[in-house]
Amino acid sequence: MNNAFSAFLFIFVAQKPENIFLTMPINFIKISYILILILLVSACNDMHEYRVEEEFTEYVQRFELEGAKRGKDFDLQNTGLIVEFADLKDEQAGLCHYEKPIRIEIDKAYWKSISATAGADLMKEDLLFHELGHGMLGRGHLNSTLENGDWKSIMCGGEKVNDRPWNINYRGIRRNYYVDELFNESTPAPVFSTMQFSVDTSGFERQLFLGFDNDANLNNISDNEDYSISIDNNRLRFQSKIGYSYFIDLVKSVDIMPDFLFETDIQCQSKNTTDQYGIIFGNDNSFSENVEFFSVNNDGKMYMGNRSWYSFYTQISRPEIKKSGINKLKILKKATMLYYFINDVYVYCSEMELTGSRVDFGFIVPAKGIVWLDNLQIRVNSLNNINYISKEFNNFTFRVQPVNDLRSVPNQ
Ligand SMILES: [Zn+2]
Repeated sequence: MNNAFSAFLFIFVAQKPENIFLTMPINFIKISYILILILLVSACNDMHEYRVEEEFTEYVQRFELEGAKRGKDFDLQNTGLIVEFADLKDEQAGLCHYEKPIRIEIDKAYWKSISATAGADLMKEDLLFHELGHGMLGRGHLNSTLENGDWKSIMCGGEKVNDRPWNINYRGIRRNYYVDELFNESTPAPVFSTMQFSVDTSGFERQLFLGFDNDANLNNISDNEDYSISIDNNRLRFQSKIGYSYFIDLVKSVDIMPDFLFETDIQCQSKNTTDQYGIIFGNDNSFSENVEFFSVNNDGKMYMGNRSWYSFYTQISRPEIKKSGINKLKILKKATMLYYFINDVYVYCSEMELTGSRVDFGFIVPAKGIVWLDNLQIRVNSLNNINYISKEFNNFTFRVQPVNDLRSVPNQ
């Protein structure tokens, strides 16, 4: 009995672990159940997850705001969206994944490098709006152009068109059009894109003319290992002998910035047809950084921008550009707008970014290139100040710039 009792006890005791063993599947079932619940809940959460990295929040909110103004309401915090940093490859600035919810990746390195430039806010908005255009508006890429050569849409991207960079002049009067177009593809062509020039240019009087017909007032003819400057057949000749572009601050001004017309005949000989040459104006104390440029190349392309920005605003092909020949480049500054002309044909207009009151004039010579200048003149609106130019041709300041003005905006 004792034994039998013991044996019973043993079995009972032996059953203890068995019981414990038996409870394990129960626990397992419970755990599985909980896991399934979690999976179910998280699956629901996933589809409506809203996870937007702090640096992108403002632009996502602006997108919702701009949408609401145009009758498109979003509630992304509830419907879901993921915007996160990534290390994107193949010259990609952003990527939109058609997942639930939409997931957008922004290239960290690109974001960081535009953050350090003057136009960062608009460039970031352009990038986020483009990706949200894919994800929230179902828009694909659109690579057509307006009459003036501007991209028609901020949805430009994908397969390159004639190797044109994706730089888009997303600023000033253009911004509102591009946001309209984003939410409504059939937005009519904007006024800025027409090639009709209807700005009053009366009242401009010549303040300075440089014909370079003699070198009497050319004090600093020089020839060193970096560059040489001389008079060559009644033209100013500047040669860069090194791997840097030169920005040459040629004409000094006084402390005002009136409306003006700045023009010169310019010719360039350089190794690559893509090398840019052109005219510039900017503040003398920060001439190498805060300077407006208008450049062309011997491949028939024009560029415009301000050096404080990440890159040129856009690249446009213009048939008026004489490849390898002499081109007359002209900028008219009127109030805050700049009007660009090539060989007396109006080609483009855009806002000036330059701030401050003092402006100097100069030109760009590409790395290892030669530029000839002739018939340089500055006209100033007589309503502003008749004694505008204080110093003339005998005071050069040379600034050496790396050729980073050639960089362009990556794909989106
Ligand atoms: Zn895209």
